Amino acid sequence: MDQTKYYDVLTLEEIFKTNLNYLKSQGVINYQSEKYAIYNPKGELIRGKLEFPYHFVDRKLYDKFWLDKAGEAGAKVLTGERAVSFDIQKSEVETDKGNIFKARFILGADGVLSKTRNALIKAGFIRDKWSAGLATALEIFIPKQECPAFHDYPIIYLGYIPWGYAWSFPGAENQILGICALNRKVKGRFKECFYNFLKTQPVSKKHLLNIKGHPLPYGNYLTKPGHNNILLIGDACGLADPLLGEGIYYAHKSGQIAAMAVLESYNNPGNALKIYKKLLHGSLVIELKYAKIRRQIVFSIFSIFNYKPLPIFMRMNQRAFEEIVHGQRSFKCHS
Ligand SMILES: Cc1cc2nc3c(=O)[nH]c(=O)nc-3n(C[C@H](O)[C@H](O)[C@H](O)COP(=O)(O)OP(=O)(O)OC[C@H]3O[C@@H](n4cnc5c(N)ncnc54)[C@H](O)[C@@H]3O)c2cc1C
Repeated sequence: MDQTKYYDVLTLEEIFKTNLNYLKSQGVINYQSEKYAIYNPKGELIRGKLEFPYHFVDRKLYDKFWLDKAGEAGAKVLTGERAVSFDIQKSEVETDKGNIFKARFILGADGVLSKTRNALIKAGFIRDKWSAGLATALEIFIPKQECPAFHDYPIIYLGYIPWGYAWSFPGAENQILGICALNRKVKGRFKECFYNFLKTQPVSKKHLLNIKGHPLPYGNYLTKPGHNNILLIGDACGLADPLLGEGIYYAHKSGQIAAMAVLESYNNPGNALKIYKKLLHGSLVIELKYAKIRRQIVFSIFSIFNYKPLPIFMRMNQRAFEEIVHGQRSFKCHS
């Protein structure tokens, strides 16, 4: 089997025989918008209309949907139990209920605070500087009926925080307002920046009580994504795009690539990392590298001019920029 072609071509839609309409009927996709805009603190910089709309998901339903699919495909799903420690030499995982699982392969898909990754760092098998590329996101969810004055399309706001952006995203039930940026550039001023942004939005004081914070990887993908038969996937491996912080696609895709590596190394599990790393670097990591270059241009050059050059740059080929954000076109080239 030609693996390069296999992981390039097969989509979730094909693997799980599902499609947009079905996801909408299940409430997983609950909103869509053809329009979008980008603002700076002085007002609108650019707006656009897409051929293929943005789709918004209810994240809890989305995650549950795919977990059920894994169960239907034969995975044994254990809930209410967390992995707490690892014996890397014996390839064992111990849970907080005291259960020990021994496995031929361990796939750490346990998010940005990954215990699997931390165990590998602690054992000295991974040496990347993880925390230098960490970002923080703050978000509030505002029930639609409480604030009808929002635009009904997504808006990105630049210029409210260094090395990051704020957003206002519509949804079926809630308007989501958020901000995210690189920790090392913001130096603890997250709340201050978020409040400055919120002052420009139709929110009331009571909404400010529900601000939630989340860490997110922001350009700190690991150059060594595991160890022998232990592979790190998605946020656990830092696979989120360093410009927009989007990681759902990368989580799915790295899972698919890890599955390929497992199949290929089944009789020689110690070889899994070598195969995974090669496939990952030839596909996702190269994208993340180019996204990082674009981030450098946006946040270190355009920011000096309050992002005014961004629309000029985008209008040179607006469709290409839109396709990059949609994942339909590589970060590598936009012409
Ligand atoms: C505020 C915010 C907004 C975002 N918006 C977008 C967006 O619009 N588009 C986009 O593409 N990305 C977005 N992202 C990024 C995206 O959410 C992540 O990149 C993506 O969820 C990564 O998926 P994952 O499966 O690797 O990790 P997660 O989704 O974090 O899943 C990890 C799973 O592991 C489980 N787990 C953790 N520890 C353990 C343990 N010890 N034992 C057992 N299980 C464990 C968790 O319960 C969880 O189910 C956003 C992130 C944030 C913070």
